[in-house]
Amino acid sequence: MRVLVLGAGVVGVTTAYWLAKAGHQVVVLDRQLGPGLETSFANGGQISASHADPWAGPATPLKALKWLGREDAPLIIRPRLDFAMFGWCLRFLANCTAARNRVNTERILRVAVYSRQCLAQIRADTGIAYDQAERGILHVYSDAKEFEAAVPKAALMTRYGCIREVLDVEGCVAREPALAESRHKLVGGTYSPDDESGDAYKFTAGLADICRGMGVQFRYGTQVRRLIAHRNHLLGVVTDGGTLNADDYDLFVLAMGSYTPLLLKPLGVRLPVYPAKGYSVTIPTAPENPGGAPRVAIIDDERKIVYSRLGDRLRVAGTAELTGYDTSLSGARAHSILTAAMDLFPRCGDASRAEFWAGLRPTTPDSVPVIGRTRFENLLINTGHGTLGWTMSAGAGRLVADLASGKDPDIDLDGLGIDRFA
Ligand SMILES: Cc1cc2nc3c(=O)[nH]c(=O)nc-3n(C[C@H](O)[C@H](O)[C@H](O)COP(=O)(O)OP(=O)(O)OC[C@H]3O[C@@H](n4cnc5c(N)ncnc54)[C@H](O)[C@@H]3O)c2cc1C
Repeated sequence: MRVLVLGAGVVGVTTAYWLAKAGHQVVVLDRQLGPGLETSFANGGQISASHADPWAGPATPLKALKWLGREDAPLIIRPRLDFAMFGWCLRFLANCTAARNRVNTERILRVAVYSRQCLAQIRADTGIAYDQAERGILHVYSDAKEFEAAVPKAALMTRYGCIREVLDVEGCVAREPALAESRHKLVGGTYSPDDESGDAYKFTAGLADICRGMGVQFRYGTQVRRLIAHRNHLLGVVTDGGTLNADDYDLFVLAMGSYTPLLLKPLGVRLPVYPAKGYSVTIPTAPENPGGAPRVAIIDDERKIVYSRLGDRLRVAGTAELTGYDTSLSGARAHSILTAAMDLFPRCGDASRAEFWAGLRPTTPDSVPVIGRTRFENLLINTGHGTLGWTMSAGAGRLVADLASGKDPDIDLDGLGIDRFA
């Protein structure tokens, strides 16, 4: 089959890899001059099934109100005249019940746990290196109430296949000695031994090279302007370099992250994926004190900040801001992440040489990705992975490739499709 994948982020490239491995002829198209240069560029680096906690939960509306006006808040909504944002927020509120939260947790975990296996398979098959660390992820808590609430959640996730062991403070420090100086700030933690970390950009670029070796063609610097469809068939893709016709492709895959809904809307398809801006800071670790920066990936659950050791760098990422498609860097938001990092790990590295970045998470109101068929028979979709796109990419790509090949996917796709928003 001839397949055109639109988008060369981590999701598009993993999709291309599995398609090529299944024997399809694949072309990948992106407006950037290389793979992984937008949201997949400098994310938090975590392969974290244990972070499968949907943003929408019973406690979220009250927390969001408390965070109003705080520039260092984990979530900021900047109201604007934007129907897509308004609609997204309404759907988000509808997902803030305990029952929806449980359903959504199971759906995210189903993909995330499967994806860890698929990533391990890609590693075994290709030998790809991306500053990966298979040392698990440690969630730490500094508020006793939050920790108390995390314990049943950890048990639920363990039941769904993602082990989360509950630890006391000394247990956390034993797992990650770099926390020793900050032990007085902690009340406990949970540890997920099967989670991992690694540089998503290095992975995407490395896998794109491997794909090229498998015969995949990459067309960079090509902006997709619109899709043309008739009834339930996609006829072509209009780009700034001409139209790619459905006569030349049997199948199209949309993997354009936050921009995917903008292409579907003119076709009458409403996809509630909205950009949630986040920031990252990359700190060079101190060569004279390598133990000052954590080696185990950490999630500070209250501040919603993640830490990943990527070789001789510490990547720290967090915050979510609903502010449309604006990718500009806010000094206050970015510096609040650096301050939090230096507070938890005072000797982690050279803060004066930290690099800042912002990207747009393609976020759904239920935090569940959108994977599968559309009402167009020759168009599949793979987006909306939100805060866990790196975690889910290997599995999501595999699921789409299996659908393209007419194979039954390894996991149930129930609740993952675009039809749930109908
Ligand atoms: C601060 C931050 C921290 C994060 N931390 C983590 C983490 O620790 N773990 C985790 O699992 N996930 C994390 N994420 C989420 C993860 O980075 C994303 O979910 C993931 O990168 C999305 O990948 P993607 O391929 O769907 O999108 P992208 O990487 O954005 O790829 C989409 C591609 O489509 C192309 N494109 C878009 N529109 C067009 C067009 N019109 N024409 C041509 N090309 C187009 C873009 O150029 C881009 O290359 C984080 C995100 C942020 C912002």
